[in-house]
Amino acid sequence: MAKKWVYLFTEGNTEMKNLLGGKGANLAEMTNLGLPVPQGFTITTEACTQYYEDGEKINDEIMGQIMEYIEKMEEIAGKKFGDKENPLLVSVRSGARASMPGMMDTILNLGLNEEVVEVLAAKSSNPRWAWDCYRRFIQMFSDVVMEVGKKFFEELIDRVKKEKGITEDVDLTADDLKKLAYLFREEYKVKIGKDFPDDPKTQLMEAVKAVFRSWDNPRANVYRRDNDIPYSWGTAVNVQMMVFGNLGETSGTGVAFTRNPATGEKHLMGEFLMNAQGEDVVAGVRTPRKIDQLKEVMPEAYNKFVEICGKLEDHYRDMQDMEFTIEDTKLYMLQTRNGKRTAKAALTIACDLVDEGMISEEKAVKMIDPRNLDTLLHPQFDSEALKNTEPIGKALAASPGAACGKVVFNADDAKCWHEKGEKVILVRLETSPEDIEGMKAAQGILTVRGGMTSHAAVVARGMGTCCVSGCSEISMDEDNKTFTLAGKEFHEGDWLSLDGSTGKIYDGVLPTMDATIVGEFGRIMAWADKYRRLKVRTNADTPADAKKARELGAEGIGLCRTEHMFFEGDRIDAFREMICSDTVEEREAALEKILPVQQGDFEKLYEALEGNPVTIRFLDPPLHEFVPTDEEDIKKLADAQGKTVAQIKNIINSLHEFNPMMGHRGCRLTVTYPEIARMQTKAVIRAAINVQKAHEDWNVCPEIMIPLICDEKELKFVKNIVVETADAEIAAAGSNLKYEVGTMIEIPRAALMADDIAKDAEFFCFGTNDLTQMTYGFSRDDAGKFLNAYYNTKIFENDPFTKLDQIGVGKLMETAIKLGKSVRPDMHIGICGEHGGDPSSVEFCHKIGLDYVSCSPFRVPIAKLAAAQAALANK
Ligand code: PEP
Ligand code: MG
Repeated sequence: MAKKWVYLFTEGNTEMKNLLGGKGANLAEMTNLGLPVPQGFTITTEACTQYYEDGEKINDEIMGQIMEYIEKMEEIAGKKFGDKENPLLVSVRSGARASMPGMMDTILNLGLNEEVVEVLAAKSSNPRWAWDCYRRFIQMFSDVVMEVGKKFFEELIDRVKKEKGITEDVDLTADDLKKLAYLFREEYKVKIGKDFPDDPKTQLMEAVKAVFRSWDNPRANVYRRDNDIPYSWGTAVNVQMMVFGNLGETSGTGVAFTRNPATGEKHLMGEFLMNAQGEDVVAGVRTPRKIDQLKEVMPEAYNKFVEICGKLEDHYRDMQDMEFTIEDTKLYMLQTRNGKRTAKAALTIACDLVDEGMISEEKAVKMIDPRNLDTLLHPQFDSEALKNTEPIGKALAASPGAACGKVVFNADDAKCWHEKGEKVILVRLETSPEDIEGMKAAQGILTVRGGMTSHAAVVARGMGTCCVSGCSEISMDEDNKTFTLAGKEFHEGDWLSLDGSTGKIYDGVLPTMDATIVGEFGRIMAWADKYRRLKVRTNADTPADAKKARELGAEGIGLCRTEHMFFEGDRIDAFREMICSDTVEEREAALEKILPVQQGDFEKLYEALEGNPVTIRFLDPPLHEFVPTDEEDIKKLADAQGKTVAQIKNIINSLHEFNPMMGHRGCRLTVTYPEIARMQTKAVIRAAINVQKAHEDWNVCPEIMIPLICDEKELKFVKNIVVETADAEIAAAGSNLKYEVGTMIEIPRAALMADDIAKDAEFFCFGTNDLTQMTYGFSRDDAGKFLNAYYNTKIFENDPFTKLDQIGVGKLMETAIKLGKSVRPDMHIGICGEHGGDPSSVEFCHKIGLDYVSCSPFRVPIAKLAAAQAALANK
């Protein structure tokens, strides 16, 4: 039997998201619930995948089924495509499993042509409406399907308005709109070189292809990468009977959330426009009215809508984001989905739903996107400064957070300035999907037009970027890159601060302060703690980082990169002396200076961690990162070493490596200079003894981690040095301190030889930054230069340095775990590469049985939530 590529709304349900996409599955579910849904059909996500497999063609089988379903739809509707009595008009919309703003959104009024529009105009008492629908359709089809570009049509509208001496679209008459429709058709022919298609089936197939194509446009690809959505999912296409919100003053259209998507508060929130079609609301062109006002305008439709909202929330047990249209007083539901929300709202809604008895704690933990938490962990404006500063404007608080930056006026500038290291605020009349990369690069986004559901607001909330929208007080001159607000003219490069939580705009730079885990955040984290198995440690190199990480819930330090302790102040001097020593004596003299500094830092780390495990990794820097490059520093070093500048330059030259990442670094430094490991061991052990003495109830047990091991004998050699030194220190202090020596697994050979290596390693920790670099054989520092080409050619979907390559690098990890545990079943194993804070990688770490992940302090809560979700998903 042929595969089924098309489903009527009556044939699906909400469980079929993978096949029907989110929109399609929910249209089917609402149909099943008996809600007023204009009927139609969904072409599956598999048809999209097949389209690409067939070389961007809709094959005969799929085409045949679409045609069959058009007939079924015509039967249900009692209307026919292109019919002169009773023409069928449809909307065509994309709908992937996860909603994606980068994709094609909507084509309305499809099915209209010269003949049909005349019929509509004659039959309805409203010819203006008929011609308006037609010119909109030509405009949308040309723009969205054929990519002609909106501006040509807007220019034509402006021309006709000018000729008539009017300024508002609503003042265009039926005849004006008819004239425009014909001008649009001519414009289409000029741009495309063919007549505008009049056959509704041709129009439909072109629109379907456009939806499929939009799955692969650059914006969608960027969005997918940022949101961990696989290319292989494909998008579905929904073809739905039109209902008209622009039939007159008893018609309208709107969007609404069952709870506030910015704060989570439980009240209906939304916007509508009377006598309008859907895109008027989201495009932010006309300023919509608040949903509450619908109560006065159309009480019956409003009451029905409120009832449906309640029903949908009860059914989905989550906040819903809905689109509706009222056609001549009758309400229709066009969409429902679990609404996108800010991190703050996500926590509030999850806690409220638990308190309302709607969902379990487990469901609450599952429904929060860990990546979203990021925004809550980032700074807010200092409340004192807020009290003492007058805002220069206020608009909609569209996406929370505090942002300060220099004003830029377009997405390209935002991206460009950001790449140069500038913080920018993107100020736009309104944003469109083309602006995504610029929005991502910006600290904050400010728009002149648009409501809470405008593109800017929705996308910024998704990205966790601060956004203030709809600031109509701004008088904007985009061409000349200036705007005026509160009497002040702002130019490109001027500083501006935005508070996305209040919608307030401030001149200049306001001080910020760190966020803390309290209230609902704390509640959710406590639930996450209950369900997760993986421990979450942090990568912290300084006592300050360690303290922050502890506050954010870190259960240990998984990686202290000891070389990073030398980045600050004049500490680097002693470090450079050590690197640029000629003799063991010189090196030992430099190490003597370093020892107390390191010991002091280690003491503070143990203090901050209050008896929780602390893994200290011995020196691992590619030395080139530390050698002085400017003359003044070279001179300073020469003086300190009692050498000439020329001598130092010679040493620096001799340190030059062609491939420093694979050069004289990691444990290789100890093999050549054992005195370095001796000094570090002394610092670790002395610090631990001191802190243990001061806190007898703590279990201070340092974990000494050797980097870049590739061979059993190599580890044995280094370990002997460590153990000899440590045991001597412990004996001399009369202490009974316990310590462990383990290794990073970050070279493929170490993973393959892990059984041999485990003989001397009490623990393993995967350094997946190097392991990824060395498994792929490309540089972690330079991959950015060619990764884009790899994305464009679909060789890679993601950056393997961000999202763990589970099948390749992951296979090495699984091998190492199996081999290691075969020798030492109780060894603890963790990960401390960047992947330790990436939710999908955390899930993998859970599945392969790691004991902990370690990540940067701000990602600790994210990793904890991801770990709980992994445990719940794999229960
Ligand atoms: C790693 O390689 O994954 C690691 C944690 O070490 P570093 O990033 O310091 O090389
Ligand atoms: Mg490494």
